[in-house]
Amino acid sequence: MTATRVLVLNSGSSSLKYQLLDMARPSPTTLTGAATPRSDTDSSRLASGIVERIGEAGGVADHSAALKQVADELSSQSLGLDSPELAAVGHRVVHGGTRFTEPTLITDEVVSEIEKLVPLAPLHNPANVTGIKVARELRPDLPQVAVFDTAFHSGMPEAAARYAIDRATADRYGVRRYGFHGTSHAYVSRATAALLGKEPSEVNVIVLHLGNGASASAVRGGVCVDTSMGLTPLEGLVMGTRSGDIDPAVVFHLARVAGLGVDDIDDLLNKRSGLVGLCGDNDMREIGRRIAEDDADAQLAFDVYVHRLRKYVGAYSAVLGRVDAIAFTAGVGENSAAVREAALIGLEPLGIEIDAVRNAVRGSAARLVSTRTSRVAVAVVPTDEELEIAQQAYSLVRP
Ligand code: AMP
Repeated sequence: MTATRVLVLNSGSSSLKYQLLDMARPSPTTLTGAATPRSDTDSSRLASGIVERIGEAGGVADHSAALKQVADELSSQSLGLDSPELAAVGHRVVHGGTRFTEPTLITDEVVSEIEKLVPLAPLHNPANVTGIKVARELRPDLPQVAVFDTAFHSGMPEAAARYAIDRATADRYGVRRYGFHGTSHAYVSRATAALLGKEPSEVNVIVLHLGNGASASAVRGGVCVDTSMGLTPLEGLVMGTRSGDIDPAVVFHLARVAGLGVDDIDDLLNKRSGLVGLCGDNDMREIGRRIAEDDADAQLAFDVYVHRLRKYVGAYSAVLGRVDAIAFTAGVGENSAAVREAALIGLEPLGIEIDAVRNAVRGSAARLVSTRTSRVAVAVVPTDEELEIAQQAYSLVRP
């Protein structure tokens, strides 16, 4: 029997998300050549779920107990982790630094290298490592693969990856632009090419991943040449709770004038800024409802969000020179026609013509929302990070 299943684990500080996929069965991409994830035709997805409140009252004790719970749930569906059909475990790892630029077979040395990157991602990498360790304890014989959120951006030219600060300081402390959401940008840029009936190498795409976290990328011929997140996921677009781009002197100003400490400012910019900072809500659906009732704070939050998005579309149009497609993805990008329209309306001089009627139609499949004459295709492409992780992991272990 050939082992064709991949268990994808996304281990957070208090949650463990999992999906079990069978790479021998038709997945959305193999079925249609384009992305139509989570559809009825997606027989590759055998099971999925989440264990929450790990280490909290009412939850399981630790990640080890969480993974045992996952294993029990899978066993109850006759999909146990002891199955010979399981080919690999694919782990989402947030930060790969400059060391990891490809999916990587996990060894003891790889685990300790990922641990060395904890200062760059103090909230995420420790939880990712815990997930890896408990999975290796449970199935020491099984290949385990780390897939990094930063990897797709590792091909960025130095001109895009460098901050213009003292080089010795930057190099000593690893201060450069790494980018995140790379698994999603990789998947969506390829799926967009497929939607256009082209190879990834033939198209230039601006990907707008707009979820609770949000980032943009400029992808030239399948290679990421710029992205909006930087050393951390704080840079770039306005997000649910993060400020995105800001004058770094705001930090000094708040320290000197308001007496705030570094941790206070970290908390302010990461958790109490963005949409929530501007209007009290971080959910675009709620903001839409409030705008319909003429709420001025919600309107301001929407306007700041969209203004930043337009700036990045313009900037990445200039970075790429020729743009073939703009792809919207993730919770806001896939669902908010209002954001898509407001971000692109009036950009006809750049060859971007969004079609108001097509844009307003809801759907779960990858689709075009530009006019038939638009030089730049505008697409809505549902992201599928688990499928991308499974495919990358399987590519390393397939017979
Ligand atoms: P994600 O991080 O990709 O799961 O995206 C989560 C965000 O998507 C939520 O915070 C909402 O702001 C947004 N979202 C989800 N559904 C909708 C919708 N139907 N309309 C507008 N925004 C939505």
